[in-house]
Amino acid sequence: MDKIQMKTPLVEMDGDEMTRILWQMIKDELLLPYIDLKTEYYDLGLEHRNETDDQVTVDSANATLKYGVAVKCATITPNAARMDEYKLKEMWKSPNGTIRAILDGTVFRAPILVKGIRPYVSNWTKPITLARHAYGDVYKNTEIRAEGPGKAELVFTAADGTEIRKTIQEFDGPGIIQGIHNTDKSITSFAKACFEYALSTKQDLWFSTKDTISKTYDHRFKDIFADLYETEYKEKFEAAGIEYFYTLIDDAVARVIRSEGGFIWACKNYDGDVMSDMVATAYGDLSMMTSVLVSPKGVYEYEAAHGTVQRHYYKHLKGEKTSTNSIATIFAWTGALKKRGELDGIAELSDFAEKLEKACIKTIEDGKMTKSLSLISDCKDPVILDSEGFIKAIKETLETLL
Ligand code: NAP
Ligand code: MG
Repeated sequence: MDKIQMKTPLVEMDGDEMTRILWQMIKDELLLPYIDLKTEYYDLGLEHRNETDDQVTVDSANATLKYGVAVKCATITPNAARMDEYKLKEMWKSPNGTIRAILDGTVFRAPILVKGIRPYVSNWTKPITLARHAYGDVYKNTEIRAEGPGKAELVFTAADGTEIRKTIQEFDGPGIIQGIHNTDKSITSFAKACFEYALSTKQDLWFSTKDTISKTYDHRFKDIFADLYETEYKEKFEAAGIEYFYTLIDDAVARVIRSEGGFIWACKNYDGDVMSDMVATAYGDLSMMTSVLVSPKGVYEYEAAHGTVQRHYYKHLKGEKTSTNSIATIFAWTGALKKRGELDGIAELSDFAEKLEKACIKTIEDGKMTKSLSLISDCKDPVILDSEGFIKAIKETLETLL
């Protein structure tokens, strides 16, 4: 079989620990034998980020703006322990945060569903994609501990010097105060990313806030979504046969649980943080969650939702066998390859990526899986494979589909 040719390179962002090991195996076993793989390689492994003073992360994000599609391996976000472990010059920022800031994107997370692994919510038969607004609110707050009685005020000084001043609370004893903000610009680009992604995946879009209580703040989110929908997306949604639906966050939570899935749920920053953990857990396993960063500039970055699986990596270093699930990382590659195929008009590339996804699902449905999947699978006698064995089993299934 001739290898599939590519036109534009994918931006390849390599990463850390166990996922870096899986990354190489996936390329060697599942991609390079079939595709004349074109990538522009950036090593986001922590050692190389440290050597380049994290310039490599910035470069990889800029390359994504240039080419349009990136695939990223999980990376370490340094903390105090990592400072010692990797002898870091600085506690470098989270690569995902840096990339997101440059691409100005929204992250969409969706579970990969397979038969035999049933969501805890039994009526969820289709994936729920969660979109989290990743800017502002409580994540960029200013807080004060009031040690005793006093007056808390909210003050806005406009560029021309005029002032708006409101009393938050007259304290008669100790308390706490918090100031948060968001910007029309950030909310608009979040809304755009959501509408665009709904169109490109042909799924309904739900959005929820607490506008009944937060009549200015949350209401602004609701209005921006509604205006954008009316002016730019209504006709496109109708043509695609999909719906935009706004409801209160508490109503949304109840409806989500009763639903069968198959839609995108857009959430404010905090709601998205909390609800994405709930949705991921309810579908079964973090190692089966995909993640794509969609930028209003029309660029895409695909990755797994899980981290570098540090505990497995230390076992691997000791020469012990690991049973790490590579599915979400493989789906990061297939997501990127499908998008590249779509943008460059290479049907074989998208086709191959589809088949590789099918091979992943079929392998698990045939009873061959990693340890953590076997614990939540209905399969009577699952064959539990190690990290490499699982990728080889997927390759065998793939060969039967090609
Ligand atoms: P993690 O890598 O997601 O792993 C947490 C635990 O979940 C693992 O110990 C393992 O459980 C299970 N798990 C996750 N992915 C799995 C897989 N593919 N196959 C099998 N089991 C899997 O989170 P972490 O240990 O908290 O973080 C490790 C590093 O990843 C940190 O340095 C963090 O900064 C980084 N991180 C990166 C990203 C990213 O780049 N997007 C996201 C999150 C975290 P058992 O050990 O019980 O088997
Ligand atoms: Mg969280």
